[in-house]
Amino acid sequence: MLIDLHTHSAVSDGTQSPAQVVHSAAEAGLDVVALTDHDTTAGWSSAAEQAVREGVRLVPGMEISSTAEGISVHLLSYLHDPGHAGLLDVVERTRHSRLTRAERMVELLSRDVDISWDDVRDQVQDGGSVGRPHIADALVARGVVRDRTEAFAGLLSARGAYYVRHYAPDAVQAVRLVVAAGGVPVMAHPMAHLRGRVVGDEVIASMADAGLAGLEVYHRDNDGAAQAHLLDLSRELDLLVTGSSDYHGTGKPNMLAENTTEPEVLAEIEARASGTRVVG
Ligand code: AMP
Ligand code: ZN
Ligand code: FE
Ligand code: FE
Repeated sequence: MLIDLHTHSAVSDGTQSPAQVVHSAAEAGLDVVALTDHDTTAGWSSAAEQAVREGVRLVPGMEISSTAEGISVHLLSYLHDPGHAGLLDVVERTRHSRLTRAERMVELLSRDVDISWDDVRDQVQDGGSVGRPHIADALVARGVVRDRTEAFAGLLSARGAYYVRHYAPDAVQAVRLVVAAGGVPVMAHPMAHLRGRVVGDEVIASMADAGLAGLEVYHRDNDGAAQAHLLDLSRELDLLVTGSSDYHGTGKPNMLAENTTEPEVLAEIEARASGTRVVG
């Protein structure tokens, strides 16, 4: 039984449609896949239709951008009610802020490199969740950089001159909203040092107090020492342990099923959720 609980489609910053992600999941031999686009559930319905066609089980999810003490925290939500007003409000605000922030970054970049907002708009689906990867794709199309990785290492780095922040809710508030929406909150790649600063254990403990259900321990951005520490912490705080790929199609090297989640853990996630059901 192969279970991968973290993937992205072109509804956010993956390169495949939601249906193609599900098709690729079936080809990779997965029995269960979660679609977790950044701050949107717009891909759920077409992914669900494809899951039924392919005989793959789909866990509808979302990856919520949040912050704690100025540090970016990604929160996976599984099986929440997509119509919950409080949660919708927050992610709509985030998506809007992502858009104005991307426009501002492009304005700054355009002073030094050949890029315009039209180039970026070409890379984004209507109503999609805009991120730095779309700016990266526009830079690739213009021949400024070779690929997304090069763009993130240089021009789009959070430490660079063109970086602009976007609105995101506080991490504890995000956990509470997911729980209120009947979802199951799991902290994504909790110790992904390469992406920037990560929060300390006390922040994770306060999220656990608010209802955090689990930690995504097995993710390529948590190194071996980080995984060992997170396993200890999950025992201490009585949290579930998940593993996932964070697949983005060809937008990242992460391969479907490169990390997986135990069936018992998925069963526990299903048992705790009341917002919506696993499809298939
Ligand atoms: P943003 O949320 O707009 O600040 O962009 C960050 C997103 O870009 C992350 O959630 C990743 O999915 C993606 N990302 C981060 N680093 C890289 C990279 N080196 N190559 C491709 N995508 C990346
Ligand atoms: Zn992403
Ligand atoms: Fe993430
Ligand atoms: Fe992700």
